[in-house]
Formats: sequence, structure tokens, C-alpha cells
Amino acid sequence: MSEPLALYGGPKTKVTPFGTGRRFGFEEAKELLEALEQNTLFYHFGGKVKKFLEDFNALYGVKYSVAASSGTAAIHVALGAAGVTVGDEVITSPITDQGTLVGILYQNAIPVFADLDPHTYNLDPASVEARITEKTKAIVVVHLAGNPCDMDPIMEIARKHRLKVIEDCAQSYLAKYKGRLAGTIGDYGCFSTNDFKHISTGDGGIVSVNSGREDDFHAVHAFADKNYRRFGTDVMRELQTLAPNYRMTELQGAVGIAQLKKLPWICERRTAYGDRITEGLQGLPGITAHRVEQGNVGTYWFYMLRVEEDALGCSREAFSEALAAEGIPNSPGYIPDVVYMQPLFQRRSAYPGSSFPFDLSGATYERGLCPNAERILQTAVRLNVNEHYTDQDIDDMVKAVRKVVYFFAPKENAVI
Ligand SMILES: *Cc1c(COP(=O)(O)O)cnc(C)c1O
Repeated sequence: MSEPLALYGGPKTKVTPFGTGRRFGFEEAKELLEALEQNTLFYHFGGKVKKFLEDFNALYGVKYSVAASSGTAAIHVALGAAGVTVGDEVITSPITDQGTLVGILYQNAIPVFADLDPHTYNLDPASVEARITEKTKAIVVVHLAGNPCDMDPIMEIARKHRLKVIEDCAQSYLAKYKGRLAGTIGDYGCFSTNDFKHISTGDGGIVSVNSGREDDFHAVHAFADKNYRRFGTDVMRELQTLAPNYRMTELQGAVGIAQLKKLPWICERRTAYGDRITEGLQGLPGITAHRVEQGNVGTYWFYMLRVEEDALGCSREAFSEALAAEGIPNSPGYIPDVVYMQPLFQRRSAYPGSSFPFDLSGATYERGLCPNAERILQTAVRLNVNEHYTDQDIDDMVKAVRKVVYFFAPKENAVI
């Protein structure tokens, strides 16, 4: 016998509040005060952004990184340093924040979308390779929701076709691919410190320069600072090509120093909680867990399971509603639709009244272009994961999912 759902007047599964906590404390305040006491908030004169990057480099085991004003900016900077320019095609994921795409279009390059693995929600290397043309210049890999993408085959494809690889790690701090940190495998790793990510500086971003080459570091650095080359005491202002001003201020750097210290704990908690949900969902009819491939570490910016409506015996929306009634906040899907369904792509117009740069490429954006990605968004249910949750919170989430599944599952699918 299944228990009556809370949706239909039965007892609610989650009766205790979810764990919460503060992100900012005295640690951040102390750093901020020190920043102000410097009497400058300019990254090149002060010490906070420099220390923030030093700590980031030590945590990530990289020689160079550059700060930026946002994750979107970080990706644009990486693209600029990679030499992405007018008419180039850049292959990326159709399930992402639009910040992944902004820099591509501002370089007057053309986003090309490859399909995803149905269980990791990350780029499928075979689909990436199938989208390569003679115009392809780079791949922007998105490690979605803290889950590392299958990097070995992607790096092999990139070497074969001489493409640059940029890793969008905005949602994937300290995620590991076969023991290596996501963000250190491609040419550049891009991170966001906007207020919704694992760590926050209000807004901000980081680009790791994985070649470890000084000239590469200088190129990344200049692209984030309108081509000012501030190395040592000499400043070079020669404008050979265009570059925006995406500088980080000392205020953000200061908060970032304190936030970075908390990052390993935040990620450990999220890994433990996400994996605990996966364990709890084993063997449920109609439910597919958020798959982190064996040997990898996910740091779950969110947890996204998929439902199979036939096996489940109800619609995704009914499942989501029943789960919410049990006291488990969740949302059907992630972004409403794949990003190529956005008007900008459907009209092939990024700049008002112009179809440039789309008219330089044969790339298309029709419904059905990436069937796995489209299907993922139609069948996904997203659960929150937070470092302040408790084991009890996670167990209640699992219990509620199991209760709803057993209630709706057709009898022939019922387990135990
Ligand atoms: C948040 C995010 C970005 C953009 O970061 P901002 O700091 O908001 O500009 C880019 N890509 C992904 C996958 C993100 O989640």
C-alpha cells in the first residue's frame, strides 16, 4: 500500500526546515576594510585581487589566472585571447546560461550547438566532432551543474582539428574529471563569482591560463583591461585590436579571498549531498539519477533527475507538484528551452537590424537540432542542493521522491 500524498491531504514528508547558513561574515568584512585602507580600489595598485588570484592559483595548481568582472566577461576574455574572431564558429552546449554565448557573439563569431549526453547533460564528443567545419575555431565546454564533461575525447578532437578549448566552470568549482580539476584541462577555464554560484563576490569572474605560458597570460590579461598591458612598472597602451574593460575591483577581490577559503568545504558538502540523492534514487521506476561518471567528482550546483512519464505513471508536472506538496522545493526543467530557441537565434539577429555575423555561417538553429538536449529539458526535475543542508534534509528529499513514485507507479512496476 502506498501512503496518501500530501497533495491529497496525506501527511507531509518534510516537517523540519531545510538547513540554512550565512555566506558572508567577519572574514569578508575584515578583507573589505583592508581593501579600503589601501586608499585605492584599483586591482593593479592594490593587493586584494592579486592575493585572490594567488590563492586561486594555489587551489587549482595553475601558474596564471586573470580576474574579470563576471563569468560572462571571463568567457569573452578567454575567447578573445584564443583569437576567436569575425566569422569563426564556436561549438558549445545548448543547455547553459546565456553568459556562455555573449562573448562568442561580441567577437562576431557564430555559436554552433552540439548535442548532449542524456544522463550527464554535458557535450557528447561525437556530436561535437560532427559539427566541425573549416570555420570552427574553438569549443566552449560547459560543465553543467558541477558535473565534469567527458574531456579526454574532446581534447583529442580539439588537437586533431587544431581547436582551442575553453571550459565554462561557472557551475563547477572543484569538480574533478578523472582526478583532474575541471577548468585546468582545456586552454582556459572560466569561473563566475556572481551571487548565485558556489562562491560570491557579488559579481566577478576568473580565467585560468592553463598553458602556463607568460605570453598567453599577457594576452588574457590585456583582453580584460582594454588592451592595457600593465606588467611591472611600464604600461603599454598600444591598441592593435579591440578589447573590452572587464576589470575586477579590489572590493570583489577582497570578498573573494575570504570566499575561496570556504570553497573546499562548500564543494565537499555538495558532493556528499548530491551523491547521497543518487544513492537514494537507485531502483526507482521512471526515475533516472543525475549521472556523474565513475572516477569523476561532481560538486552539484543543483541536482537534476529525469522522469520517464510512462514508467512513472504520471506527468512530470504532476510529479513535481506532488513532490512540492511533500515539502520538497523543486522545478520542472532548468532553462525553459534549449538556448537556440531564443529569438536571437530564431531571427538570426544579434544586433538590431542586422543579421551579422550569422550570415557568415551556415549554422542552423531549428527545433530538433539537438534532440537529447531538448528531451532533457522536457523531462528534467531540478532539486536544490546546498552546503547548509543536513543529512536529514537529503534523506527527507529521497523519502519524498520515493513516496511520490510509489504512489503513481503502475502496479506492474512497483518495487518491494
Ligand atoms: C552563471 C553562468 C555564466 C555567467 O556568469 P555571470 O557571472 O553571471 O556572467 C556562464 N555560464 C554558466 C554555465 C553559468 O552558470
